[in-house]
Formats: sequence, C-alpha cells, structure tokens
Amino acid sequence: MKDEMKIILDKIEEYNRIILFRHFRPDGDAVGSTKGLREILRLTYPEKEILLINDDQSDYLQFLGGEDEPIPDEAYADALGIVLDTATPDRISNKKFALCRELIKFDHHINVNAYGNYAWVEEEKSSTCEMVVEFYLAFRDRLKINSAAATYLYTGMVTDSGRFRFRSVSGDTMRCAGALLDVGIDTDILYAHLYLQDFSDLKFKAEVYKKMKITENGVAYFYVTEAMQKKLNLTSEQASAAVSYLDSIKGSLIWIAFIENGDGSTRVRLRSRFVTINKLAEKYRGGGHDCASGATVYNRKEANALIKEADAILKEYKETHEDWL
Ligand code: AMP
Repeated sequence: MKDEMKIILDKIEEYNRIILFRHFRPDGDAVGSTKGLREILRLTYPEKEILLINDDQSDYLQFLGGEDEPIPDEAYADALGIVLDTATPDRISNKKFALCRELIKFDHHINVNAYGNYAWVEEEKSSTCEMVVEFYLAFRDRLKINSAAATYLYTGMVTDSGRFRFRSVSGDTMRCAGALLDVGIDTDILYAHLYLQDFSDLKFKAEVYKKMKITENGVAYFYVTEAMQKKLNLTSEQASAAVSYLDSIKGSLIWIAFIENGDGSTRVRLRSRFVTINKLAEKYRGGGHDCASGATVYNRKEANALIKEADAILKEYKETHEDWL
C-alpha cells in the first residue's frame, strides 16, 4: 500500500466534516470520482458529514444526480478538503476550498502545481476514478461500497479512458473496473446515457463535418463561432464537444476545436494521437496531458499561429516516426 493512501485514510478518520471538490466544467472523471468517494465515505462513516459542493454542474452528467447545498463559510474552517481530478487550484470549481483547515490533492494530471497540505498524484493513471477504486481496494476491509458508488466510479473510468481505449489503460485499470462490475453496475443504462444523442447534437455534428478544415500536414480544426452557437442554440458543453467529432481522421494526428466564449476569449481544446501537444498548449495560456490539453486565445491571428505551430509539430513528428495513422 502506498504511503499517500494511508495518510489520506488517517486524515479522513481524523475529521468529522469532509468536503469534496473538483474542477469546473466537470467531466465524467471529476463527477464520478467525487460522487464515488462521497458515497464510499458516507456508507463507511455515517456519523461524519461528507459533502460535495461546487459552483457549476454538467448537463450531460445529470443522470448521476446532484451535489450538496452550500454551507456557511465558517463550516469550512474545521473541515478537511479533498480536491479530486484537478491539476491546479485555479481550476477548482468552489473557491471556498481555501477556507478548509487542511487540503488534500488527489489527482492523475501532471503535477505542475503541487497545492494542498498533502498530495497523492499518479500521473500515469488513466483516471482519478481508478485511483479512488485503488484506494477503496487497499482498505476494502474497512471501507464500504455499493452499486451507486461503483456506477459513479465506473462512469469516470469509462469516459476518461475513451472507453478503455487509451494507452494509459493498464492491467490495474481493468482489475479496478472488474472489481466495480463485481459490485454491480447496469452497464446498459450507463451506456445509453453516454451514447444517446439529441437531434440538435447530430445537426451540430453535421455542421462540424461540413466546415472542418485540415492543414497541409494533417492538423484538423474547427471554429465554433458565437453566431453558430446562437443559430443552433448550443450550450457551451454542446459546443465544446466539437473536438471529439474530429478524433477519427486518418493521418490527422492533432485536432483542435476553437470555441468562442462570448467575452472576446476563445477556448481551445487540443487532442492528439501519439504526438505530444501539452507544450504547445502551455505557450497559449494552457496545459494538460500529452494528448489532451486546453488553452485560450484572444483572436483569429493567435488561433492561426497556434494552428501553424501544431502543423509544424505534426510535420516533424511524421518525418521522424513510422507506423502512425
Ligand atoms: P479540455 O479540452 O478543456 O477538456 O482540457 C483537456 C485537459 O487539459 C484537461 O484534462 C485539463 O487538465 C487540461 N487543461 C485544460 N485547460 C487548461 C489550462 N488552462 N491550464 C492547464 N491545463 C489545462
């Protein structure tokens, strides 16, 4: 068992109030890991107050249920905070995390910013949910789980690993997933929630495929303008999904979606196969994983410069590597 796990369990046992946090614009891993851990801790320690309080929610994950109501600021002062799936403190959804007496970082992103009093970071893990399962399995004689917790955690594992497709998926990932399936998950219902699409989403997809562009060396990209968001009545979540529509083009090892935010800034979502793109994201006010990063630009000129740099990276990659597709 890892020392960090023991420290986290000791801290959980020491506090009567534990508040869980995650990043804003939550994905399946952020929601799944916080809800999964909340459920495990509530089952195990019914006498403790285990809360999940954040400022924003995600529409497409509503099927996993809600979070807890806000509490007075004073109630943070004697609480332990655990922040899951969040690389840097500026990305934490609920800014009151800073009021907690002690804070634990519990994450699988690159550890560029080691905030908190204690940290357990495993950069090679496919999801934070996998770490929560590992934590549960390490103390399975002490911690309790049920099928709701298993479903939350499995959802995060499935979504953050591209349905167990990414290279970060290991034997341990599958063993953790297996342990959750043993607890009991209705995977038919889960996948129906994850795969069924609204009519309007398909219309948007058609627009993306009609208007997407590709550079000389294979960087595919697409702008989701404010006008388009208005015309198709897209939520920012729907607009952001554009990046995943570009992920299966042969020879296009880097793909980028630009989503205009409506305040003059444009969110950039970068994805890649084989090629590392987080260094590029860092040059444009962002960062992230080797093959999944985010950044921000402020005009088309900057966006075009980013595309040009991505194209040069891909050119170099293709010239120096074989067997890419
Ligand atoms: P996104 O396209 O926003 O889902 O981002 C992909 C990944 O990049 C996420 O897992 C984030 O951890 C990371 N990321 C996104 N934006 C930033 C940023 N501004 N700074 C650092 N990391 C980021």
